[in-house]
Amino acid sequence: MIFQQQLRIPGPTPLPERVVRAMDRPLVDHRGPEFKAVLDEIVPGLKKVFGTDADMLLLTCSGTGGLESAVANLVSPGEPVIVALCGNFGERFVSINRAYGAEVIALEAEWGQPVDPADLREVLNAHPEVKLVFLTHNETSTGLTNNLQQLARVVRDAGDRVLVVDGVSSVGSMPAEMDAWGVDVLVSGSQKGWMAPPGLAFMAVGPRAWEHHQQARSPRFYFDWGKLRDEIAKGATPYTPAVGIAFGVQEGLRMLFEEGLENVYRRHRVIADACAAGLQAAGFQLFAAEGFRSATVTSALPPEGLDVAALRTLLRQKYGVVIAGGQGKMTGKMVRVGHLGAVTVGDLVQVLWAIEQALEELDIKPADGRTLAAAGESLAREATPALA
Ligand SMILES: *Cc1c(COP(=O)(O)O)cnc(C)c1O
Repeated sequence: MIFQQQLRIPGPTPLPERVVRAMDRPLVDHRGPEFKAVLDEIVPGLKKVFGTDADMLLLTCSGTGGLESAVANLVSPGEPVIVALCGNFGERFVSINRAYGAEVIALEAEWGQPVDPADLREVLNAHPEVKLVFLTHNETSTGLTNNLQQLARVVRDAGDRVLVVDGVSSVGSMPAEMDAWGVDVLVSGSQKGWMAPPGLAFMAVGPRAWEHHQQARSPRFYFDWGKLRDEIAKGATPYTPAVGIAFGVQEGLRMLFEEGLENVYRRHRVIADACAAGLQAAGFQLFAAEGFRSATVTSALPPEGLDVAALRTLLRQKYGVVIAGGQGKMTGKMVRVGHLGAVTVGDLVQVLWAIEQALEELDIKPADGRTLAAAGESLAREATPALA
């Protein structure tokens, strides 16, 4: 590969040049003043984006490690937990909980549909003994965003429960107000909307979660939140962190604040709507329920006769554009176009154009320009966000 791939997958996301340059510097002592200065900037920055005054913890691992840390710090073997799910990442929350010996009560919505607040209320009411509730904000595998504000209110109304949310592919790219919405633990990861490479997981942990943590009896060592909190308060981490990735997160946060969070969220929404319009015009069928379509990843079923694997290979090899396929039981059955982090209208035009060309080459549909025309109409309906 000579030129860089255009990553239209839901993570890792494209690295802005500013982030690459910020990481291109010598490492510093992770227990010295230079790294403390980095933490002193990124911890409050992350809190601001998460909408929280809670403790912000950073772990060197992928997003799944951040999710596992929540289970390791909150769940005791044999403890009943509720997992509300509607896709592959929800299933992962079930698996992690089972690995730690939890008795999982799964509330599963059909893939492509959101978790229903009434169903959640019913499960909560039927299980007053359950203290831990897990859910996924943005279900990346189906391109669907649950109404977290509404679901969190249902959990809050159901008495003394701890709500743990996978916000890996949402926080930083769409509104997620941890404190205002009543979320107790919110997890994200550096390679999604934060515009940095994979390597750091972020966990915001609120007071109700800390209380439950005190009685949790799962074994934990590297993932122990207590040690993490104590060290981060002193401007370090218990073990060697991904120092270079932290430089990248620092620069990514600066970019988010320079653009303005409202503008960031609007850019993602506008691009997602145009992506959906373009894919539909190309003959794809949108997979996620209307009204719940994600601002960070668009999922769609292919037109009749299209081999998703062949499409993805052609896009990668001939056009240098990489899109995702389905996950779990949808493997090979859908496409997912990621548009989170450093993604502009120009990037969207590129992937849609390439898809249209590829469909012609694969004898599915002539490249008649309708895909981009539909995306353009969608963009024209919404004020096109600034690109510089
Ligand atoms: C990307 C992602 C994760 C974490 O995946 P890792 O590969 O472990 O970083 C978790 N949940 C969701 C919803 C995601 O999109």
